[in-house]
Amino acid sequence: MTSHDVINPATEKVARTIDLVGVEETDEAVARAVEVGPTWRAMAPADRGRLLRRFSEVVDEHLDELAALEVENAGHTIGNARWEAGNVRDVLAYYSAAPERLFGQQIPVAGGIDLTFKEPLGVVSIIVPWNFPMPIAGWGFGPALAAGNTVVLKPAELTPLTAMRLGELALEAGVPEGVFTVLPGKGSVVGERFVTHPDVRKVCFTGSTAVGQGIMRKAADQLKRVTLELGGKSANIVFDDADLDVAAAAAPMSFLDNAGQDCCARTRILVQRNVFDAFMERFEAGMRAVRVGDPNDEATQMGPLISAGQREAVRGFVENSNESVDVAFRGTAPEGAGYWYPPTVVLPGSTNDRVWRDEIFGPVVAVLPFDDEADAIRLANDTAYGLSGSIWTRDVGRAIRVSRAVEAGNLSVNSHSSVRYSTPFGGYKASGIGRELGPDALDAFTEVKNVFISTDN
Ligand code: NAD
Repeated sequence: MTSHDVINPATEKVARTIDLVGVEETDEAVARAVEVGPTWRAMAPADRGRLLRRFSEVVDEHLDELAALEVENAGHTIGNARWEAGNVRDVLAYYSAAPERLFGQQIPVAGGIDLTFKEPLGVVSIIVPWNFPMPIAGWGFGPALAAGNTVVLKPAELTPLTAMRLGELALEAGVPEGVFTVLPGKGSVVGERFVTHPDVRKVCFTGSTAVGQGIMRKAADQLKRVTLELGGKSANIVFDDADLDVAAAAAPMSFLDNAGQDCCARTRILVQRNVFDAFMERFEAGMRAVRVGDPNDEATQMGPLISAGQREAVRGFVENSNESVDVAFRGTAPEGAGYWYPPTVVLPGSTNDRVWRDEIFGPVVAVLPFDDEADAIRLANDTAYGLSGSIWTRDVGRAIRVSRAVEAGNLSVNSHSSVRYSTPFGGYKASGIGRELGPDALDAFTEVKNVFISTDN
């Protein structure tokens, strides 16, 4: 095992030193997951549901502890961190009802009875990024366990602490040892092993598009199932008939939440040309009011970036790039220790600019005007990604037309909501393959088996 320092991004101090596991420990965990699989799968549905419900309650009992751990490890604001721990609780509670509702079908056929069963896949692996360590872990292990799979989970190197604690809380709740194992380690070691291990039947990956593409290529060798939740460059479209005060007031946190390190961040704002100046005036006032600072302060809305490297990457888009970037206005950020970067609004010269095309994954938004509905749809879809987006208008017909025309998996009208545990979440195009959450998430963790029983013999 090698030791690894986990850094608090708001102070740059070591929060904890942990041991990273290697291939050998990964193989041992997978072997245990294989071994306990039949017992977990054979458990009475109500009992498996009860254990998940208990796991949800134990998470709730430790909500403040988990939230404090995330503030320390990831620099998330305390309000967000509480929501994130609560989301794990809620996802577990939602899917605790699933074991007793994993229905198959009875299909009319000649000469007998035809039945379908939803069977667990076996060992499922979950690879989690650093931006939302708790929710993204829960979106994988909640439905995967409910469907009768055993789970091995790798948190990101930068943010392993809450996942490790969730692994302990599962045991405390009575989930049998080996059913859910958290393996802190490197992507190139533990993550890779998940992909190449023949007993791991699925990789549920959230992270960058480049790593996701590599996983899909390698998974092809074993025809291993994949769910990929990848990057985004989502559009926030503001029409001239929108309530401009509300749209402008909502715009800052639509890309500043989690310091912009959010795959659903609305980082391209499209504003109808005839209300562009009126929108920008209101937007600027809202931006300057955003409170950036100590994530432990209840009033803070935005904390630091996750690492020095991430801050350099973000800065490179705005300050060190070869193209000249027109900064319209900025918010403030603390000085001194911590990976701070101020909220920044840029005006691209064209849609070819990197700030308009690439996922920056920081508190930077690009704004452009559009002429009419067709132009807005064309610009919104002119991206490799398709994760989320927002449409601001009072015209119901337009809201529906544009929602249907934008190629993205999660759209909201007169709101920036993207994620609810009870509704599906996932991307079009380079934003991924498959859907998580909602009533259908179990399909991603089961195989459909068809059985015909002859009534003639
Ligand atoms: P990343 O791709 O570098 O890492 C994600 C995870 O993959 C980490 O746990 C990492 O250790 C692991 N990994 C790295 N190399 C691997 C390999 N070769 N094999 C297996 N695993 C490997 O991404 P990141 O920087 O941690 O996260 C940021 C990205 O995640 C952004 O692009 C963001 O848009 C995306 N994201 C997407 C969603 C979504 O739901 N679509 C949600 C959150 C984040």
